[in-house]
Amino acid sequence: MPIYEFRCKACHHRFERLCPVGESGENLSCPACNTPNPERLLSSFATRGVEGGKGASCTTCKASNCSSCH
Ligand SMILES: [Zn+2]
Repeated sequence: MPIYEFRCKACHHRFERLCPVGESGENLSCPACNTPNPERLLSSFATRGVEGGKGASCTTCKASNCSSCH
């Protein structure tokens, strides 16, 4: 299940939620101020993969499971 990051339009509080595929998070509300319909940001899933992804993906062939180029 992918993790999505949301930002409250009212107080700009950022939070993460696990959302089923196809779920846009429109039924979520801010845990800080309870304002509904937070703005969905880019998945932190992908961001983390880039930042801390030692061994997560091959830098040469960009395959997640590299067995061909090393
Ligand atoms: Zn808020």
